[in-house]
Amino acid sequence: MRIDVITIFPEMFAGVLSTSILRIAREKNKLQVELTDLRDFTTDRHRSVDDRPFGGGPGMVLKVEPVAKAVREVRVRKPGAPGRLLLMCPQGRVFDQAFARELAAEPRLLLVAPRYEGYDERIVEILKPERVSIGDYVLTGGELPAMVVIDAVARLLPGVLGDEQSAEWESFSPAGQGLLEYPQYTRPAEFEGRAVPEVLLSGDHAKVEAWRREQARKRTADFRPDLLE
Ligand code: SAM
Repeated sequence: MRIDVITIFPEMFAGVLSTSILRIAREKNKLQVELTDLRDFTTDRHRSVDDRPFGGGPGMVLKVEPVAKAVREVRVRKPGAPGRLLLMCPQGRVFDQAFARELAAEPRLLLVAPRYEGYDERIVEILKPERVSIGDYVLTGGELPAMVVIDAVARLLPGVLGDEQSAEWESFSPAGQGLLEYPQYTRPAEFEGRAVPEVLLSGDHAKVEAWRREQARKRTADFRPDLLE
């Protein structure tokens, strides 16, 4: 998969992309991430990408011209399927595991990470991106949401997770029937008087499986009853 990101802070992505699973995904060539600096698409001396809002009000607004130029240039730079265009925005479709799975099936994504008080609405009217929100709260920019999307999608790409990690049965997965994951334990078998549930030490795989399913259901009922619906 190729993911292009248009941002004014490409440097924010360095740590995330060069650590752990994302680093491995890129090294294995399962994932290619290209960062494009939005300021490269400005024409003025200050390389400005924002301006005051028409009608007045606080804050600045991301301009339409550099974004339109950048999106078009990135698409031409890598011809072929244009890929889904995603605009990070707290007003968008809420990003969840089903959305991540949907995106992981795509060959290409183009993420736009705005900043400021907002963006010129003509970005949406002209380029027709899908607005994506990572939750009902407001961050200062679209970079962290873009990284959240990249991380969640990359770990679902075939061959990215090794045998020891699995996206098969985990919270929100079809194999786990959309439930939260069951509780996990590791050594020592006892710590400060708290023992690991006996069934996990029994070696009886059927019993362990049944216990995990029951725990997953219980946990979901306790923490996220909405998922049971
Ligand atoms: N004034 C906007 C509003 O009320 O909807 C919020 C702007 S926010 C300060 C600046 C940028 O951060 C947004 O344009 C968006 O790109 C990004 N952003 C903030 N929260 C987000 C969220 N929950 N999901 C996705 N993007 C978000």
